[in-house]
Amino acid sequence: MARYKNPTEFFLIVNAVLKSLIIFLYPTQCRYCEENLDPADGHYICKSCWQTVEFIARPYCETCGCPRSQTIALPDKIASCNKCPDSARFRKARSVAGYDSVVGAGLRLLKYSGKTVMAKPLADLMIKAMPMLFGMEDYDYIVPVPLHKKRRRERGYNQVELIGRRLSSTTNIPMKTRSLIKTVHTPPQVGLSYEKRQRDVKGHFDLSDPLEHAGKRILLIDDVLTTGATANESARVLLQKGKAKYVDVFTLLRVLQKL
Ligand SMILES: [Zn+2]
Ligand SMILES: [Zn+2]
Repeated sequence: MARYKNPTEFFLIVNAVLKSLIIFLYPTQCRYCEENLDPADGHYICKSCWQTVEFIARPYCETCGCPRSQTIALPDKIASCNKCPDSARFRKARSVAGYDSVVGAGLRLLKYSGKTVMAKPLADLMIKAMPMLFGMEDYDYIVPVPLHKKRRRERGYNQVELIGRRLSSTTNIPMKTRSLIKTVHTPPQVGLSYEKRQRDVKGHFDLSDPLEHAGKRILLIDDVLTTGATANESARVLLQKGKAKYVDVFTLLRVLQKL
């Protein structure tokens, strides 16, 4: 120990050696790049992969938030586009990143592999992006898109609620988790056409207490925005039945369609 300038230096070295030994004996790989994962950097996905997240930025459609090609000369702001849902009920929709990214990998761990610990880094991305996309003072409530009670029972949790809990406590915008309800159980929508999806969600949501939304400014949150049909139908119910003042949509991911 005499070789070390002070005991702290000695313990730092011991700590580093032990850490390397743990990684050597029990290697865990990043689920995205497959490099060895340093447990100190978090769970399942490595620090350098998280650093590759590309946040969606303008130019995008001001209504549905769909990114537009930067190679074509475009006005600074595009009011609407051909990807906007038919008669958009929400005021605007925005997303943090594209689905084909490390964020998509993180969400799949949370959603399909029971890794609830992933809610934290995913929520942190929404917390980071939110001031760039929304006015922080513009909302009375956060409302997560619900799961049907059967799906919720199977999974044990609603992943959007887990993310929303952290978003809510950091932004101080209260979250209402029991008001918007999904009344119809539907199979996963992967692979269905846009028209089929629009039809599929019509009438699938309801409000348990419509009175609590009257005049309220609502930030509806979801994990993925694909066609916008679910967000649009949820917004329709909150506005028509709940008499909300307006509904904006914030999703973690967006399936980017070729334009
Ligand atoms: Zn990685
Ligand atoms: Zn649009």
